[in-house]
Amino acid sequence: MKAQTQVVVIGGGVVGCSVLYHLTKAGWSDVVLIERSELTSGSTWHAAGGCHTLNSDPQVAKLQSYTIELYKEIEEISGQATGFHLTGGVFLACTPERMELLKVMQSQEKLLGIDTEILTPQEAHKILPIMDPDQFLGALYTPMHGHLAPADVTHAYAKAAKIQGAEIYLRNRVTELAQRQDGTWDVVTEQGTIHTEHVVNAGGLWAREVGRMVGLELPVLAMEHMYLITEDMPEVEEINRTTGKEVLHVVDPDGEIYMRQERKGMLMGTYEKAGVPWSPKDTPWDFGHELLQEDLDRIAPSLEVGFKHFPPFQRTGIKQIINGPFTFAPDGNPLVGPVRGLKNYWCACAVMAGFSQGGGVGLALSNWMVNGDPGFDIWGMDVARFGDWTTMAYTNAKVRENYSRRFKVAFPNEELAAGRPLRTTPIYEKQKGMNAVFGVAYGMEQALWYAPEGVDPVENITFLRSNAFPHIQAEAKNVRDNVGVCDISSFAKYEVTGPNAESWLSRLVAAKVPRAGRMTLAPLLNEFGKVIGDFTLAKLDDERFFLFGSGMGETYHMRWFERHLPEDGGVEITAHGMGLLGLSVAGPNARAVLAKLTDADVSNAAFKFLDFKQIDLGMVPALVGRVTFTGDLGYEMWVKPEFLSRLFDTVLEAGAEFGIKPFGSRAMRSLSLEKSFGSWGTEYRPIYGPFACGMDRFVDLTKNDFIGLEAARREKEEGPEKRLVTFAIDDNGIDVMGNEPIYRNGDIVGYVTSGMYAHHVERSVAMGFVPADLAGDDSDGAFHIEIFGDMRPATIAPQPLFDPEAARMRG
Ligand SMILES: Cc1cc2nc3c(=O)[nH]c(=O)nc-3n(C[C@H](O)[C@H](O)[C@H](O)COP(=O)(O)OP(=O)(O)OC[C@H]3O[C@@H](n4cnc5c(N)ncnc54)[C@H](O)[C@@H]3O)c2cc1C
Repeated sequence: MKAQTQVVVIGGGVVGCSVLYHLTKAGWSDVVLIERSELTSGSTWHAAGGCHTLNSDPQVAKLQSYTIELYKEIEEISGQATGFHLTGGVFLACTPERMELLKVMQSQEKLLGIDTEILTPQEAHKILPIMDPDQFLGALYTPMHGHLAPADVTHAYAKAAKIQGAEIYLRNRVTELAQRQDGTWDVVTEQGTIHTEHVVNAGGLWAREVGRMVGLELPVLAMEHMYLITEDMPEVEEINRTTGKEVLHVVDPDGEIYMRQERKGMLMGTYEKAGVPWSPKDTPWDFGHELLQEDLDRIAPSLEVGFKHFPPFQRTGIKQIINGPFTFAPDGNPLVGPVRGLKNYWCACAVMAGFSQGGGVGLALSNWMVNGDPGFDIWGMDVARFGDWTTMAYTNAKVRENYSRRFKVAFPNEELAAGRPLRTTPIYEKQKGMNAVFGVAYGMEQALWYAPEGVDPVENITFLRSNAFPHIQAEAKNVRDNVGVCDISSFAKYEVTGPNAESWLSRLVAAKVPRAGRMTLAPLLNEFGKVIGDFTLAKLDDERFFLFGSGMGETYHMRWFERHLPEDGGVEITAHGMGLLGLSVAGPNARAVLAKLTDADVSNAAFKFLDFKQIDLGMVPALVGRVTFTGDLGYEMWVKPEFLSRLFDTVLEAGAEFGIKPFGSRAMRSLSLEKSFGSWGTEYRPIYGPFACGMDRFVDLTKNDFIGLEAARREKEEGPEKRLVTFAIDDNGIDVMGNEPIYRNGDIVGYVTSGMYAHHVERSVAMGFVPADLAGDDSDGAFHIEIFGDMRPATIAPQPLFDPEAARMRG
């Protein structure tokens, strides 16, 4: 083994080998992979080898599509066959909701440029004669389903990487990782120590152990998973003989079943409801190429469905049952990228569908390591989307929940129950007493809406407008007509202090740092001039600043902030998390409410739009900024947790005479949409520049140098390729849920980033990016948005639908 290298990839499963291959493809050839045993010795060797492009996150779907297209390439380079067969597949539907979902899946496949077809049960039966058409309502045919030989794919990646310079050391466990002062790593193995710049944790079933070597507790858990292989099935041979093709790949969500042909029989796997974690706390190092004890009883309910839906199974014997473990993160997507606070330690773990996603994970991670950016919007896979609140027990609860609903219909307004409540604010019980219906944001319980007295605080889950619709509407209208109060504790809040705080912030964000007592909106750009955050930046005094931003981005942004702190000190940054909580009081009477809480002069002249002050609200010491995401007159009030409950009561008492009512995050989003405000993660994403996002007035190209300045200047000079626009939709009672294609003259020109019903202006609204040269066309119905297969005319709103002059915010 060499003594020195640029990268050590730990783990020779399909993911580690893909990372290794992609690093060499990107031009880094001094890279090694270290494997405890033989290649494929984790979950890879016993995988069923199915692959497809379907994922509810279109960005992840894009990387799945890349993975499938890659198999030809690695076969060619390595000379190693992968056993890849692109069979095509059907996704079946037994319920009306599932039929609706097929339409959503069809539009998502269209965004990838993949043509699919929705079939009647009879049409599906023609191409899949082993199904009983009477059991189904329809199906979606997609050509991008296939299967492969897991070990062969892994060896193809490995051989291709070796041809391009990589080295692989087998039968050599990594036992320890030690970081040197300069941030490089000593990787201690059974065969000696190797010094390296970067370490990649691709430990698969042992990802937790490889995390623990550096003090990390990754939110990963393995689940047992079973599939069976039948004896030869005459119907399969018949299909092969008459069509000259293999049986299609099948997903039958009602039994949580997937299927494919295996030799002359079939392979059927299932995600049973009562899934069982495997080795929930530690993975034994001596676990090798062995299988787990099968448990037919556990999967019997799914198999019953399967045998009923596919009658030839009733007549065919079972040849083999495979039970093996593989890993999941709490939301079922991979954990990829650099880890906050650990220089050059990268994750490529929790890849539950290594043969659909492994290529994409390798590509994104290698881009990130080599170029400093994954090159895609991979928020859905970023290891930073979880915080330190994701404990082992939380992960266990969420993974089991996720496993049991692997193919379930996910409704846009559905809030899953497992692992909750976990993080609550001091007003949680009060909100509950006020009939709040809660959702979860970065692990925190957040009031979505409040049921009026006498109405059950329960929301029916649906693709349509739910029973919450009139109540959210009432909340939104009360803000616009009177005043409302919303718990905004789920925002992220950072405090930046020190003598160099201002100069550091000025180099960090694209906006000009405000003067003391003022706030500004501040886009955060990466070196490529793409938006990686949007904050409200407040200056309290020369050495004390606050940044308020997206709550779910806390770990993601702290990773960036800490990485960019000056080496010579003078700046400290703290993420307050649940240590600073807040209320937003908004609406035309907000000032009158505030005036009752303080002796300070809060007149428009004394407390202007975007002012930021330290004032006592009743007995509560607070930081108050004049801004709200509702786009109305309003204030954000930030207090230490011990004061939140008192502040909530005080605000409600003071506001009673003005008709104050609490409102939830749904009404908040509805109000912000009619102001065309985007959010980080949906509109503001690391694949768009600030000018594409319409943040022009918050980018100061004339101030000092800042990260992304050159690229931002270029974007301004050349003009962005795309622009963020707001559409008013000629709806038919259904609102967008995100990721719908946007059409113009029959061609897809963009996709919806977010949207819902804007209750005050009473329009169904969507935001999305379209080519810049089309963004100015606000003629009536110039665009169409496909909502559940229905082409709805959509018109660009050239200015915000509510208060385009911003008179309310400023007045
Ligand atoms: C029954 C079953 C069916 C499946 N079917 C499919 C399917 O149809 N399609 C699909 O896409 N996916 C399927 N999967 C999931 C798929 O197997 C995984 O997504 C994939 O194997 C993950 O690969 P990995 O490289 O991340 O992890 P692993 O395969 O677990 O590889 C990790 C490797 O790291 C090595 N390692 C760990 N720690 C160390 C260390 N300290 N030093 C050196 N080496 C170390 C291990 O020995 C191992 O070889 C299935 C899984 C199971 C169990």
